[in-house]
Amino acid sequence: MKTEKLIKKAHEFAKPFCVTQGDKFRLKHIDPGDTLGLKSEAQPRAKEALQMGIRALAELQDKLYAQDKWGVLLILQAMDAAGKDGTIKHVMSGVNPQGCDVFSFKGPSAEDLDHDYLWRSTKCLPNRGHIGIFNRSYYEETLVVRVHPEILAKQKIPPGLVTKRIWDERFQDIRNLEKYLSRNGIKVVKFFLHLSKKEQKRRFMERLDTPEKNWKFSSADVKERQCWDEYQEAYEDMIGHTASEHAPWHVVPADNKWFTRLVVAAAIVEAVEELNLTYPKVDAEKKKELAAARAELAGQTS
Ligand code: ATP
Ligand code: MG
Repeated sequence: MKTEKLIKKAHEFAKPFCVTQGDKFRLKHIDPGDTLGLKSEAQPRAKEALQMGIRALAELQDKLYAQDKWGVLLILQAMDAAGKDGTIKHVMSGVNPQGCDVFSFKGPSAEDLDHDYLWRSTKCLPNRGHIGIFNRSYYEETLVVRVHPEILAKQKIPPGLVTKRIWDERFQDIRNLEKYLSRNGIKVVKFFLHLSKKEQKRRFMERLDTPEKNWKFSSADVKERQCWDEYQEAYEDMIGHTASEHAPWHVVPADNKWFTRLVVAAAIVEAVEELNLTYPKVDAEKKKELAAARAELAGQTS
């Protein structure tokens, strides 16, 4: 497929789920089972399209790395079993590991808790020329920490600073961080893999019933599922407060893994394509240097 056509296709898949303005955002407007009308028979074609997206991403990453100016930060957030790990594995399967760094953020360590909450993430921001992936991120500070206030109580923040404005303040901190990153050439692209409660139950059951998947199961996940509605509210509020033109959220239907991966790949291709990357140009002086090196090499006997 020609690049132009591929970009158009990527836009078609990514656009319906892209949120750049949060004030009117409602999670219920996005159906976790949506496939943009593609039936399950379309799966083989969707997989081919994904492969094309993966190849396009590999080419774009090569330029990103060579140019060494922009960085890309991909953020993935989701309820358990929504497919973050599988999406990263498939969508990034073509990229050069030298230019890609994945960080998974779990509960904070004692060292993390001895710092401000953005500290551990800012240490992991991508280099120029690299793609950084946050599997969970500082957004957990407006999700799990909001749903479980006892986590906030352990954060050693001076008590006078913890007021009812704390969540608005965190949204503001995060908006400022992402604005700062965009002004410094780090492109932030965010994904919420939007899974239904019913499909989560099915996937948990599958993890319990399939020996090869047992290791993925955690009883804590079933407990966390009891807070489903609180999490959905927290996600809606988070997306509403932090979606922007320079750091959009993509709310990706996650009940069909093949569709989730296609949309995520399309959104990444589109975002990186917009950077208009080119290989570094060779100036006249460098051309002279290359010609001299060539002549010298040609003159050598072996
Ligand atoms: P998996 O698919 O392997 O279960 P996961 O991302 O769910 O992947 P886990 O080890 O199960 O990984 O859990 C990470 C846990 O850490 C999540 O429950 C998440 O909410 C929690 N977590 C992440 N960041 C924070 C934070 N800042 N404060 C408290 N808990 C956090
Ligand atoms: Mg988990």
